[in-house]
Amino acid sequence: MTAPRPTVEAGSHRGDFIRDIVAADLAAGRVGSVVTRFPPEPNGHLHIGHAKSICLNFGIAADFGGRCHLRFDDTNPTKEEQEYIDAIEADVRWLGFDWGEHLYHASDYFEQLYAWAVHLIEAGLAYVDDLSGDQIRGYRGTLTEPGKSSPWRDRSVAENLDLFARMRAGEFGNGARVLRARIDMASPNINLRDPVLYRIVHAPHPRTGDAWCIYPTYDFAHGQSDAIEGVTHSICTLEFENHRPLYDWLIEHLPVPSRPRQHEFARLNLTWTVLSKRFLLRLVEEGRVRGWDDPRMPTIAGYRRRGFPAEGIRRFATDIGVSKRDAVIEIEQLEHVVRDVLNQRALRRFAVLRPLRVVIENYAAGQVEQLAAVNNPEDPDTGTRLVPFGRELWIERDDFMEDPPAKFYRLAPGREVRLRYAYFITCREVVKDATGEVVELRCTYDPATHGGDAPDGRRPRSTLHWVAAARAVPAEVRLYESLFVRPDPGADGDLLADLSPASETILGDCLVEPSVADLAAGQTVQFERLGYFCPDPDSGPDGLVFNRTLTLKDSWAKAQARGQGGG
Ligand code: ATP
Ligand code: MG
Repeated sequence: MTAPRPTVEAGSHRGDFIRDIVAADLAAGRVGSVVTRFPPEPNGHLHIGHAKSICLNFGIAADFGGRCHLRFDDTNPTKEEQEYIDAIEADVRWLGFDWGEHLYHASDYFEQLYAWAVHLIEAGLAYVDDLSGDQIRGYRGTLTEPGKSSPWRDRSVAENLDLFARMRAGEFGNGARVLRARIDMASPNINLRDPVLYRIVHAPHPRTGDAWCIYPTYDFAHGQSDAIEGVTHSICTLEFENHRPLYDWLIEHLPVPSRPRQHEFARLNLTWTVLSKRFLLRLVEEGRVRGWDDPRMPTIAGYRRRGFPAEGIRRFATDIGVSKRDAVIEIEQLEHVVRDVLNQRALRRFAVLRPLRVVIENYAAGQVEQLAAVNNPEDPDTGTRLVPFGRELWIERDDFMEDPPAKFYRLAPGREVRLRYAYFITCREVVKDATGEVVELRCTYDPATHGGDAPDGRRPRSTLHWVAAARAVPAEVRLYESLFVRPDPGADGDLLADLSPASETILGDCLVEPSVADLAAGQTVQFERLGYFCPDPDSGPDGLVFNRTLTLKDSWAKAQARGQGGG
């Protein structure tokens, strides 16, 4: 695997407090070489919040000449699946990062973790508790009241060793017993009130199969996995801040081979977006979206299917930076960078979403000419392509008004407009059906305006895109809007009630220029004047299907220009 680390943005990151810590640790000789990790639990697909963490961890490793591991935090077999493991690997690669040979699983360490649990028991620092989960919660106390000791807290080492071995051997049912650290039931930090280290779960594991029926908790597995791998900087989100004393306690009391340190940063929150695997899973399971990769999903797979380039997501992660304070980023900022990348990269093409027929009366029937059209004005190297033109054309229904108001400069009876890269046309007659709907425009063209300029210098106030009827390819286009009706979904406590019924609009009668038929899925182009679009994986020889990636309207850039917006 040779996916290069992203070079476009290399070095463009802002310094941040985590990079400052890493630099200081290196300068002081506290660490020799930087090792980070991205530790997903394979219980769902990755979302854009994970992308922030991936860019941070892999980015720091790259910036400081270290390495970043991909480690699956697979300690909960009832929720984890191989499908998710595969998808996560594919997503991280697609984002442009490479873990090389450093692919790990917490489950690789189950035997070592078990040995360390025994070590704690032998040191009098862990015990088998027969209380139920509910009882343990009840005994734990609150922020203002100390916890109460379990009656099993003072079991002998021998009895604990025996019971723990029998837990492993499968003698007890789910939840019958747990192993707990023996720390301090009165600690002001509730995570130190004898946290659970192992639970009994009789369920096959995607990797270890039936080898185990006891599984370590996140807290017991995570720091020790970091230590085994020689991770120097264990970077996680703020909700783990009050787990850090436990992280440190375990590292201190176990004969681990290295001394990792945990550092926390604020997770990504985005307006109009819910970043919770549990909720996203629910949308998938209830069939409210087309799957984890539905273009409306904030998953990496969803953005990919929608046509967002990986570079846009990486640049967004860089732009928003890293902080210790929770904040909500505006979705418009993500869309802004993605538009910026697409504006540079996307080829321009013609498509008509809601077609209206135009017949050019003075253009010979059966004649087709090929006109040169610029592929991307931002990138002259992409040259031009030929677009067929003929007597019958499709234009956008919105681009005509029979009775135009003052500021409508597009086509209207008697008015001349430019057809981009083609000719000027003038509308001579409007044809309607029995219901009074406009079904066709009879027009004339001026042959002297070939290519789109008039020798006499006259300039129509508007330029339209179009597709020649004889060569147009039919397509379905799916327009996407936010999944939610409000920028703060769930603020009233009910996420499902905030789902938008209009998040997907399917247009079945679109027409695109012939060259568009050859695009690969996910290859985003700009349909001129309409937005960015890419072929959906549903697209095939039986019919083209396009997703709208984004419209052209950049409200973030406008807000920035007015001196508003979040950054
Ligand atoms: P979710 O809360 O969406 O269910 P999670 O935190 O349970 O996600 P993990 O697989 O445990 O998902 O996360 C892997 C890594 O990604 C962790 O280090 C976690 O801190 C980080 N991460 C998860 N969500 C975000 C986010 N919104 N912003 C930044 N990092 C995140
Ligand atoms: Mg988690």
